Amino acid sequence: HDPVYAEIQGPIVMVGFGSIGRGTLPLIERHFRFDKSRFTVIDPKDTDRKLLDERGIRFVQQGLTRKNYEDVLKPLLSGGEGPGFLVNLSVDTGSLDLMRLARELGAFYIDTVVEPWLGFYFDDKLSNADRTNYALRKAVKKEARKHPGGRTAVSCCGANPGMVSWFVKQALLDVAREIGLDFEEPGARDREGWAKLMRKAGVKGIHVAERDTQRARQPKPLNVFWNTWSVEGFISEGMQPAELGWGTHETWMPKTARLHKKEDAPAIFLEQPGAATRVRTWCPTPGPQHGFLVTHNEAISISDYFTVRDKHDEIVYRPTCHYAYHPNNDALLSIDELFGAAGRIQPVHHVLTEEELVDGADELGVLLYGHAKNAYWYGSQLSLDEARSLAPYQNATGLQVTSAVLAGMVWALENPEAGIVEADEMDFHRCLEIQRPYLGPVKGYFTDWNPLTDRPGLFKEDLDESDPWQFRNVLVH
Ligand code: NAD
Repeated sequence: HDPVYAEIQGPIVMVGFGSIGRGTLPLIERHFRFDKSRFTVIDPKDTDRKLLDERGIRFVQQGLTRKNYEDVLKPLLSGGEGPGFLVNLSVDTGSLDLMRLARELGAFYIDTVVEPWLGFYFDDKLSNADRTNYALRKAVKKEARKHPGGRTAVSCCGANPGMVSWFVKQALLDVAREIGLDFEEPGARDREGWAKLMRKAGVKGIHVAERDTQRARQPKPLNVFWNTWSVEGFISEGMQPAELGWGTHETWMPKTARLHKKEDAPAIFLEQPGAATRVRTWCPTPGPQHGFLVTHNEAISISDYFTVRDKHDEIVYRPTCHYAYHPNNDALLSIDELFGAAGRIQPVHHVLTEEELVDGADELGVLLYGHAKNAYWYGSQLSLDEARSLAPYQNATGLQVTSAVLAGMVWALENPEAGIVEADEMDFHRCLEIQRPYLGPVKGYFTDWNPLTDRPGLFKEDLDESDPWQFRNVLVH
């Protein structure tokens, strides 16, 4: 029997019915009590409208814009009994504006990325610093500071950003135990306690290390972009500057590195696109691999969350954190094709469905490195096969995201006045308890691989042999 976790008393409005919206729908149906007659889905495309029609769920075919969002959403979210829930699973809608409006109306809010309004990602009038996730996140953090508390809005609660922040805490506990640390688990709200534990465990940094081995039945044709989740989403973030949470152990920066104006900013960015920037990382199935250093909210939020300051407010510890993403082979080829054409985006975009894929898995975890046991990967190894058996309308990548949305919604309903929060600030035990049934094997692996393993080979390299886990050794340059 599927547990029903909570009741959504007011209206539900889902913005965006693409790969993630479609996959979230059956999880909402399974795990919440709600009034179907007050459920609305908004999307400019009606590709999957059938799923809504057969359930009697209202569909509004419209794209939200900066101009129309209030007029469209206000009537849908207000009126009638109980607080509503705005579930934002779209691209090109301003997360901050939607979140603000939801809270004003007393409605809950959740998204999986700080999404800007249409035009931001490719605006060549903006500086690269302004096109970073640091800038997008800063605006949400500012809103949280200006309006603390109040109706819960969960920012960036997908697989990553989202679930991986919960994995980081479990991985840290595993590492701390394995290296024989004498410690007590910090409480759910004890940010400082968690940061101190990370420091005490000697973790230098964290990769969000992912390998997607899901294979398509058909080989990718020329001039199309295929992916296992949003093509628009991946292209947008891939064309943002590469960006990473910048740790206190780092002694070197690449020439393209730029600092933000605010001196204690937890991140730096590189003057180069993330999807053209590769790093060395490790996942259990492939072992060593290259991944893309694509910018993500969690790279910044995790480095920020685990920062330790001294009495004088000086930063004494911060871990490096970044994404290291090996997408599925079709997406990899699509990216290669795109950059080969000087960034000209393919005209056809497609998210591969669970039927169009044959086999493989999405191995998505966190690699905590630099401690006494070298490195530890902890994460989900969800196969396509298992994803198919667990929930309809999604591949393995999708289910890792939608089940995190589910966990975030449950947590919000159980903590209705928590204000604006990120995954790092939520109770990871509760969230993973809800999500775990959808994640396939969730396991930890220690490895003795490091970025200097088997290097240099036939060619001279620019290495720091005194410290394997320097970003200088991680970056492919
Ligand atoms: P998708 O491209 O499959 O679907 C996006 C949908 O948004 C489309 O149906 C599109 O028509 C709709 N849309 C476009 N403009 C809109 C507008 N102005 N108003 C309302 N809807 C609009 O993408 P997806 O795979 O479903 O991903 C959805 C979002 O989730 C994206 O922002 C993506 O980056 C994010 N995401 C996050 C994670 C994570 O782990 N945190 C993982 C996957 C996707």
